[in-house]
Amino acid sequence: MEKALVALHPVFVKVGYTRAERWISVIEKPVKGFLFDSKSCGQCTLGSTGMTCPMNCPKTLRNGPCGGVREDGSCEIKPDMTCIWVTAWEGSQRMADGEQAIQIIQGPVDASLQGSSAWLREARQTIDQRAG
Ligand code: SF4
Repeated sequence: MEKALVALHPVFVKVGYTRAERWISVIEKPVKGFLFDSKSCGQCTLGSTGMTCPMNCPKTLRNGPCGGVREDGSCEIKPDMTCIWVTAWEGSQRMADGEQAIQIIQGPVDASLQGSSAWLREARQTIDQRAG
């Protein structure tokens, strides 16, 4: 997806990134919601968390589990749910470089980005890096 969005940069410049973001978030939100139960925080960590959205953790922990994970791997707050970090770890083991990726420290959530397009943000970061 990032490659396609980077390639579309000239189009986004013409139509305006604000307008482009509205279109892309309309696609991104339901796709990620359906596939990964994403909460659309706008700062996607799926590639680093075994394709598990950490915003489903009742404490919204983004850098590993709290100290309350039960012996059977269920959540201390919601016992009927597997701790998202158990699921994240298992998912990371199935991904190329997943074990390294899950060790990347995630920054704090910026609530102002809720609902915005993480796809577009990542593409813009790549464009900015290339521009130097
Ligand atoms: S047990 Fe896991 S899912 Fe539950 S609050 Fe702690 S870190 Fe979050």
